Amino acid sequence: MNEFSLIQQFFNKPQHSNAGVVLGVGDDAALIEPPQGQQLVISTDTLVAGRHFPLDTPPHAIGWKAAAVNLSDIAAMGATPQAMLLALSLPAVDEAWLAEFSRGFFECCQPQQVALVGGDTTRSPTLSISVTALGWVPRGQAIRRDGAQVGDLIVVSNNIGDAAYALRHPNSKLQQRLDYPVPQSALGIALRGFAHSMLDISDGLAQDLGHILHASAVGAVLHVDQLPFSPVLHTLDAQQRWAYALTGGDDYELCFTLSPQRLAQFYEQYAGQFSLTVIGEICRQPGLQLMQHGQPVVLDIKGYQHFD
Ligand code: ADP
Ligand code: MG
Repeated sequence: MNEFSLIQQFFNKPQHSNAGVVLGVGDDAALIEPPQGQQLVISTDTLVAGRHFPLDTPPHAIGWKAAAVNLSDIAAMGATPQAMLLALSLPAVDEAWLAEFSRGFFECCQPQQVALVGGDTTRSPTLSISVTALGWVPRGQAIRRDGAQVGDLIVVSNNIGDAAYALRHPNSKLQQRLDYPVPQSALGIALRGFAHSMLDISDGLAQDLGHILHASAVGAVLHVDQLPFSPVLHTLDAQQRWAYALTGGDDYELCFTLSPQRLAQFYEQYAGQFSLTVIGEICRQPGLQLMQHGQPVVLDIKGYQHFD
């Protein structure tokens, strides 16, 4: 199969008439009409086989995840995703693999009406997948890492540590959480005008929250006993569960900060729509202070000390 028929068969799908996409796959480049008064939000991420996912990951899950991690970055800015570009380096043309990969990729994009508008396909000894995602946010309303304010509450979506658990316990109940992360786009968009700072948790909460603290020149108190966990993680030793949450990674949940008043307003406006947990507060004192039952605690967890 040559490159052109490969692209035609697997990646040039009829897609939702995605607002603003004037020209998609097939020309030298795509054409997109920017919505008025909006800023372009654009991000790229590469997944390398054996490094970012185990070699035996099903291709459908690889396709999904390649799209999801990029949509998660767009969500973490409070932006509405619109389109993606996909650069594939393949060791060989395996049609069954490509069919499953592209099915997974499109299944992640479709509910969010994100169009695949272009990409590149090459051969290389290692399988590697680079995705560029773009979206839009009303001018000045992107939720950045540098906006956290002293007195803000720190909030996370859903549960954390699931993917880290699944990585170390193959075929567990939480395998889906590792292979099929769900980008929190609706939450990210809803938080415009509420959150002062935000990011998606991809490298473990301690390190990622550290990015907000550094960018905002503030510190934080984090209550480890308030972290939200799935039932499976509650069967573990507490130290182990905290280690997964703080240093595990691959969660793709949102972590954001906002004032207590704003959080109350948010709960009122979006009653019951999102699962959110307050896990700490932003303070003036630099660094990340971990607390258990209101007392400072030192955990024997590699990685977090960096932020003391
Ligand atoms: P060029 O040589 O001009 O870069 P290509 O042969 O690389 O053209 O690509 C032809 C068209 O197919 C372009 O519109 C490109 O964006 C698209 N394309 C190539 N690979 C992919 C892919 N993996 N997914 C989606 N679109 C792709
Ligand atoms: Mg090309």
